[in-house]
Amino acid sequence: MPTISDPIVPNGAPLPKGERIRCGQCGTAEYVILDSIEALTPPAAEFVDVGYSCLECGNSYAHAATFQDVAAILNQRGTVSGVLQFGGEYVHCGEPMKISGTGFHSLYAPMSTEDPTVDLLDVYLATKVLRCRCGFQMELPS
Ligand SMILES: [Zn+2]
Ligand SMILES: [Zn+2]
Repeated sequence: MPTISDPIVPNGAPLPKGERIRCGQCGTAEYVILDSIEALTPPAAEFVDVGYSCLECGNSYAHAATFQDVAAILNQRGTVSGVLQFGGEYVHCGEPMKISGTGFHSLYAPMSTEDPTVDLLDVYLATKVLRCRCGFQMELPS
């Protein structure tokens, strides 16, 4: 396992698949903003196609990268671990999760429907259920 301070290997030794997410010009991923995350074709558990750009110098990049690397970039912005969130997409196991259903959750369970204020309190939260092929599911407000 590479250490956290894993330096960029000088003489190549590229990863079997995927490259480190970083700005080649700035030599850091610090200013990198992900533009897209897509499943590889065919999907690979550990790799995704990413597009990103560097806010510092404006360069953009696109290549396959490890799920871990993508997570590291996203996690520096405080994303829930294990699930990558990008735009409207949630990625688990290296591919976007699919919507498997929708539902409604009542935030309140009014005891009486006679009360005129119930309408105000009776808030239902529309949700959608996202499912990963591994069986992982999460529910989100739609
Ligand atoms: Zn840069
Ligand atoms: Zn999964």
